[in-house]
Amino acid sequence: MKNTKMISKNDMKESNRMSILKTVRSGICSRAEISTAVGLSKPAVSALVDELIKEGLVYETGRGDSTEAGGKRPILLDFQADAALIVAVSFNNDRYEVALTNLVGKVMFYVKKKIRIYDDYRQTLDLIVQDIRQLIQEASGQGIGQPVIACGMAVRGLVDTKLGIMRYSASIPWTDAPIGDYMRECLDIPIFIENDARAGTYAELLHSNGEYKDALVCVSVGLGIGTGVVIHNEVYRGAFDGAVNFAHTVISHDGPLCRCGNHGCWDALASITAFGEELSRRDDKYASLDFDTVLKMYHDGDPIVADVLLNHTGYWLGVGIANILNIFNPEQLIIQGDITNAGQRLERKIIEIVQKRALSAVSKGVKIGFSQDSEKLQVRGAAAVISKHFFSDTYHRIIWK
Ligand SMILES: [Zn+2]
Repeated sequence: MKNTKMISKNDMKESNRMSILKTVRSGICSRAEISTAVGLSKPAVSALVDELIKEGLVYETGRGDSTEAGGKRPILLDFQADAALIVAVSFNNDRYEVALTNLVGKVMFYVKKKIRIYDDYRQTLDLIVQDIRQLIQEASGQGIGQPVIACGMAVRGLVDTKLGIMRYSASIPWTDAPIGDYMRECLDIPIFIENDARAGTYAELLHSNGEYKDALVCVSVGLGIGTGVVIHNEVYRGAFDGAVNFAHTVISHDGPLCRCGNHGCWDALASITAFGEELSRRDDKYASLDFDTVLKMYHDGDPIVADVLLNHTGYWLGVGIANILNIFNPEQLIIQGDITNAGQRLERKIIEIVQKRALSAVSKGVKIGFSQDSEKLQVRGAAAVISKHFFSDTYHRIIWK
């Protein structure tokens, strides 16, 4: 009995500590304000705040204004986002990115390289680990000595986030690869893996400060398409971690062959890969060009590129997004990824098609648009996963010992 009581007292303290940490994270505040916000006595708050200051997670920023009742000006507190470093990794069949970020996902060191996909996943991961070590060394060379506390990985395909297993990807030939365990062996820190589209969604969520009350959908359009759905401020995962995989929904039954083996998937019509393939069908002079080169031709006024981008890619993106609106009825739909580099004409085209095709009751109030910041989206997403766990009761103590 004695034991049970002690554990529950400890749990209570941990839970209070987390509530205080989250309150400080949500905005600069005083001890008195925390006391009101979390419903704890001022001495109890002060004791826990002192512990958080000692741990380096909270710091005093200075004094605020005195209250109307007068008295001493309160000492204000803020969260120390630079208390530790997060390793963020993302990869797909084309490239990998590695970053070191602070606790709120601000990228401090970064490298992006072409990936080599070996049959044995460990060989590919070894190259990534080399770059992680290099970045950590670079950071310490610049006098940044904060501890590296966890690694987030944003991975293309279906993942088992609990077991750290990459189940299946249409573009990478690894099945049931225990990449989480392998990375833990190499780096000796907790590893969390996540589907890259959901990771991108966490990145949007991290910067929204809980703005999405009901539903948000993020559609990431790169070489492939990924979708992430937020319902009541939580990223929706489905029963088996597979949600929301809209990319392989068939939207044109006799459409082009998809990497998954079906015909006419949304991915095979509206992704950047599909854009390149359609462009090559129009004229094979485009066949060997990468997306950045073709985009430059578009911005320089190439009529064929403009036609395919707006009337093929834009059209099919609009058709798919209209379907998504009918299913989820979100308050906002954010389009992320490299496609956003195409700019406003494409954005307007997509919105025009969506408004024509979605039921007006669901499309009337929704805000649709390109993300404000698709730069380094996938690694920021991987870091956002760790940041989210850092502030969760379940994972905080695994990451912050
Ligand atoms: Zn498919």
